[in-house]
Amino acid sequence: MYDVVISGAGPSGSQCAEVLTKAGFKVALIEKDTNWRKPCGGAVHSSVVDLYPQIKKLNIPKILGVVMYSADYHKLEFKGEGDEYSIIMDRLELDNIMRDAAVNAGAELFDKNISFDFLFKNQKKIGIKTKSPTGIKEYYGNLIIVADGMSSKLAIRSGVRPKWKITQLAIGKCAIIEGSNQLDEEFVYVYFKPYLGYGWIFPLGKKRFNIGVFTFGKDNLNYNIHEIYQEFLGNPNVNKYIPNSTYKTIWSSSYSFPAEGVLEKSLFADNLMLIGDAGGFVSPISGEGIQTAVISGKIAAETAIKALQEEDYSKTNLKTYKTNPEIKKIIRNFKLKYSMINFFYENNGKNLNKMLQLSEKDPVFREQVVNLFTYGEMPSKDFIQKIND
Ligand SMILES: Cc1cc2nc3c(=O)[nH]c(=O)nc-3n(C[C@H](O)[C@H](O)[C@H](O)COP(=O)(O)OP(=O)(O)OC[C@H]3O[C@@H](n4cnc5c(N)ncnc54)[C@H](O)[C@@H]3O)c2cc1C
Repeated sequence: MYDVVISGAGPSGSQCAEVLTKAGFKVALIEKDTNWRKPCGGAVHSSVVDLYPQIKKLNIPKILGVVMYSADYHKLEFKGEGDEYSIIMDRLELDNIMRDAAVNAGAELFDKNISFDFLFKNQKKIGIKTKSPTGIKEYYGNLIIVADGMSSKLAIRSGVRPKWKITQLAIGKCAIIEGSNQLDEEFVYVYFKPYLGYGWIFPLGKKRFNIGVFTFGKDNLNYNIHEIYQEFLGNPNVNKYIPNSTYKTIWSSSYSFPAEGVLEKSLFADNLMLIGDAGGFVSPISGEGIQTAVISGKIAAETAIKALQEEDYSKTNLKTYKTNPEIKKIIRNFKLKYSMINFFYENNGKNLNKMLQLSEKDPVFREQVVNLFTYGEMPSKDFIQKIND
């Protein structure tokens, strides 16, 4: 019997387990496969680095700037000026550092366990069932936290939300490739597309890079991810940074993430909370979700600690998960980004093309574009007028 059973030891589940065990609670952390490399760009925000001294110790170069291309290849390059930065990591390494941190704090990690259903008593969820190499296993807990990502079976079995429709997702394909290149280690390279989506090249040290593309929303139905990935690799504006003819693909894979923001109405139920991708904690348009997965894991852990102390695991008591100011801020921010999709992508990315074209000549406009991308500042009427002129 555990205080909390967590399904999924990705960034959200591991962070949640660590906070709970550090507070003295008994946690089972269930993981399908610790050797699985989650398909991801691996851009990790500095707030996550700050939480993990194990990551800081790796001294990975800080990403301080962005080189951005519109769909018609106008270019905008800028460096951030604040304290915030990102680093690029191989997800296999990142996830195992986070898992180890949870285990070192006292969480019990059960690898090669695939959770597939709940255990019930008097219609109450009292644990989860998994398939393991040695047969079906049962893990009992006062609280269950679903952290097993966008393909979570438990999220659907719980009844709190239905399966995502394909148009509610983003579909991505990416690779880690090795070979000398012309990338500046302090920059990420982003290519907007005429369809809903973008491509990226993220440097992983001097000799490797993570490269990928994704589509989202209705354009998942109009484009084939494997075809646009091949197209991206052959694009001359991409090739100028990776000019060699021989590169070694270390790994490549495709995967999805929820693209419409946090599922406000489906985050919790009696004895149950959804965190990370399972609850929709991925930023619309950019697809960043590691930082928000970690925040949702931390806040769910704090909510669980209070519920365990009060021995009240009811939906009413777990509501403070959703009303927490950090979660409310994420929900607000994602709604804003979601509302900007039309503005960015209407008429095959016309506004984005014009934005980057104007910022090549007009320094004041350029600053507004930078503020829009770095701080999510809403464009002024004057700004929109210039684009429409
Ligand atoms: C192509 C792509 C590129 C991305 N790029 C970035 C980026 O550069 N930066 C960024 O911040 N975000 C990025 N994201 C989003 C980011 O990957 C996720 O938001 C983040 O990993 C969410 O963490 P999580 O812990 O909620 O879920 P996950 O990372 O998906 O972890 C879920 C865990 O649960 C395990 N699991 C799954 N099913 C079961 C089961 N049935 N039983 C037990 N365990 C199970 C999995 O093995 C995994 O370890 C990208 C996503 C995609 C698809």
